[in-house]
Amino acid sequence: MSESGTQVIKQNPLLYVTETLNDLRVKGLAPKLRVLDGEQKPVCVFDGCEVINLASNNYLGLTSDKRLRKASVEAVRKLGVGAGAVRTIAGTMKLHMELEEQIAKFKNVEACVVFQSGFTANAGTVSAVLGKEDLIISDELNHASIIDGARLSKAMIKVFKHKDVTDCERILQEHAAFPGKKLIITDGVFSMDGDIAPLPELCRLAEDYGCIMMVDDAHASGVLGRGGRGTVDHHQCHGRVHIQVGTLSKAIGSMGGYVCGSRDLIEFLYLRARPFLFSTSHPPATAAACQAAFRLLDSPDGEKLVEKLWANTKFFKRELKKRGFQFKTSETPIVPIHVGDGAKAYEFSRKLFDAGVFAPAVAYPTVAEGKARLRAIVSAAHKREHLLKAADILAEVAKPLGIV
Ligand SMILES: *Cc1c(COP(=O)(O)O)cnc(C)c1O
Repeated sequence: MSESGTQVIKQNPLLYVTETLNDLRVKGLAPKLRVLDGEQKPVCVFDGCEVINLASNNYLGLTSDKRLRKASVEAVRKLGVGAGAVRTIAGTMKLHMELEEQIAKFKNVEACVVFQSGFTANAGTVSAVLGKEDLIISDELNHASIIDGARLSKAMIKVFKHKDVTDCERILQEHAAFPGKKLIITDGVFSMDGDIAPLPELCRLAEDYGCIMMVDDAHASGVLGRGGRGTVDHHQCHGRVHIQVGTLSKAIGSMGGYVCGSRDLIEFLYLRARPFLFSTSHPPATAAACQAAFRLLDSPDGEKLVEKLWANTKFFKRELKKRGFQFKTSETPIVPIHVGDGAKAYEFSRKLFDAGVFAPAVAYPTVAEGKARLRAIVSAAHKREHLLKAADILAEVAKPLGIV
């Protein structure tokens, strides 16, 4: 009884969270976080077990590269550990500007703006460039950060079937008289299937129907194109894509995202992209590591790393095929192994881990219900022996589960 005499029912208002969680646990759909002890490397220790690591986006092995490490440490010594403000107040340091110039040059565009992450780059850019009177035409498998950016913009969103240029054109025809701005947006490489967007065809549609063309190259930067210059370079679509997004958190080995385009687009984003305006910029160590990564990519050593990544990818896929695995859609180092049922995919991943290979299961809501899979990612840092052993273990574990 409370002081006023009324019955107080102490019910936790967050009870539904516990209930939902318990439900997911019972169904085997609540995997635990794996904890890495040490550096992100091709063979490393997660949860106290040494495993072959096929789980990271560290395509070129740069997370522990000595050149990036050195640049970071020097930046800390010289410039401290934080930027101290958002970019638009006092948090623009010389090395932020240098990094943007370096990326613009690397991508052969006028200008670049760096964000705190690829996620904020997408969300901040789409919502700054489009408004509620506009139309966004988006591939159904686009990344969550694109979807969130589109929702934040309040524009009308129309989704076309995955990589289906005809379906995209159908939407454009149906909205031929649409009065607002139109944006076609696609991942360059799709993160869960490892396939590549039909960029030349989408660029043609953008040109025919007067649309802005935007591509998110998170899994393509440092991977596709000459020296890892991305899908625009891979497809020879130079000058046809107005907005190119990339990440600094995957192949580049550190953290961040960027947008490349015309000088005016970038200056506009400086004024309107909300994560740029309202969230503090990178600490010097991060910006310096990224600078070192682009210096490397721009050199023969960098080109060799990208070549090694592709050689390893071909080798690993060939070895998996020999063991009966199929992955029709993948055209990149992302190797999805189809399982179907979510709980079974988690079981597959757990058993693999126990056998010495770490590759995560991906299930709903990251992919559609019934399309759960295991996702293995190859890097330039893997040795052939790691990949051979991983292929053997994958086959051994997959067989009794009926996956292969
Ligand atoms: C990983 C990813 C992002 C987000 O990049 P972060 O730098 O990790 O925030 C954006 N888009 C796609 C397609 C991605 O795969």
